[in-house]
Amino acid sequence: MKPLQDLFSQLSQPRKVVITTHQKPDADAMGSSLALRHFLVQFGHTVTVISPTNWAGWVNWMPGTKEVLDYEKDKLKAEAALDTAEWLFCLDFNIFHRTKTMTEKLKQLTCTRILIDHHQEPDTDSFEYGVSNTAKSSTCEMIYDLIVDSGNADKINEEIGECIYAGVVGDTGSFRFSSAHAGVHNLVADLKARGLNHGKIHEGLFDNFLENRLRFIGHVLLHRMEIFYEFNTALIAIPKSDLLKYHIKTGDTEGLVNYPQSIQGIKLVALVIDRDEERKWSFRSKGEFDCNTFARNYFEGGGHYNAAGGRSSESLEKTVERFKQVMKENEKLLQ
Ligand code: 5GP
Ligand code: MN
Repeated sequence: MKPLQDLFSQLSQPRKVVITTHQKPDADAMGSSLALRHFLVQFGHTVTVISPTNWAGWVNWMPGTKEVLDYEKDKLKAEAALDTAEWLFCLDFNIFHRTKTMTEKLKQLTCTRILIDHHQEPDTDSFEYGVSNTAKSSTCEMIYDLIVDSGNADKINEEIGECIYAGVVGDTGSFRFSSAHAGVHNLVADLKARGLNHGKIHEGLFDNFLENRLRFIGHVLLHRMEIFYEFNTALIAIPKSDLLKYHIKTGDTEGLVNYPQSIQGIKLVALVIDRDEERKWSFRSKGEFDCNTFARNYFEGGGHYNAAGGRSSESLEKTVERFKQVMKENEKLLQ
């Protein structure tokens, strides 16, 4: 994989570009994709953003979301854009299988594939150009770097600022995680100096749900959370019946995994949701517990040191049983 900088001199030559990201895009995935789009169109590129799946309703306030294609819903249009693309940007993921049903299509493409991502263990052989840096807070920070490092800071407009800020807030847990290094705060200061209305973004991200979601959270914390104090671990397991009862949609469960972290002494939080096709795990840790390795070893997943995800094709009961077993096996690491 050649460095991203090698492409800077070609930015001003208009091309057909597709930008894609991981399935069920979050604020960073959608924010980075849209920020890059708002940047590239200023050079005359024809840019299509494709999401492998649908996304949370609360992402829709982001400028440009209306034009994003959902590969599962708009397959013909999305494949037409992919077939004619000269550049394919892959943002906020680093291995094709994180695009679910789009995986095979991406593997067949012969266009130039470009990676911009901050997750561990990138599949760099699949990309001709790119940057992979786990020290970055978010892919949005990396898009900001791309714009500034290529000498185009003057192109940061309101849309770009809003998208980048949303992703940075999302992936740093509102500037809480250690990934919120000094450069992140400088980035925010720069966006503020350019006129960013940060309060609007916080409302878009956090005050944008329906009543049923708050009732659902109350129900889950009361009835579905188990605390294992001897292992400093909290577990939330959500059956499908809860999702149906409270009309839970994509994105409504975002942030749920953070609630048990407010309990003194909790080091690891595990959340599993019984989705149609799989049991989806989320892991969050504080301090010295490596969620990425844990998710990779036991739940076919990965991610970052303190935040990772995984999956299981077993029943909810079986996968919860397995979790409790591996929690015990990891007792030393959880002290
Ligand atoms: P979340 O729990 O919010 O779904 O994911 C936490 C972090 O782990 C995110 O950075 C996400 O991209 C990553 N992640 C989630 N699920 C998976 C997975 O199945 N495989 C890998 N490699 N990363 C994942
Ligand atoms: Mn990210």
